[in-house]
Amino acid sequence: MLITSEEEMLRLGEKFANEILPPLTIELIGDVGAGKTTFVRGLAKGLGVKDELSSPSFTISRSYSGEKADLVHYDFYRLQDPGIMMEDLAEAISDPAVITVIEWGQSTQGILPENRKIITIKYIDENSREVEIK
Ligand code: ADP
Ligand code: MG
Repeated sequence: MLITSEEEMLRLGEKFANEILPPLTIELIGDVGAGKTTFVRGLAKGLGVKDELSSPSFTISRSYSGEKADLVHYDFYRLQDPGIMMEDLAEAISDPAVITVIEWGQSTQGILPENRKIITIKYIDENSREVEIK
């Protein structure tokens, strides 16, 4: 589907939160600036997370508790050796109360569950993005 503003991406994430239940893993695919973290901000809001969501780029992972579900958000972009985080990731994935969201998860493919949602975001122009959910 075509998303034509940041606000619409936030709403898409928020709406998606109403269609899912933990435990669930969501893999986000898209270039830098595609809008992956923006989608997760909307998702967090929809899950009833009150804290401000910030990109986990430097910390690799951030956890939030929400009214509907907890959220653990990973960003492996800057991680040289994903090995050190795999146990942590496996724990989040297997937690029945957690929605696990992963940006830049190529190196983690081995442990991502088969039944995960894969959301692909493509930059079209300054304000437009093509989003595919499967
Ligand atoms: P990523 O996590 O994929 O690197 P971010 O969500 O951090 O991307 O950044 C996306 C940037 O693109 C933000 O600055 C946001 O304001 C901008 N933007 C413009 N239009 C859109 C849109 N339709 N959807 C998402 N982000 C958008
Ligand atoms: Mg990001």
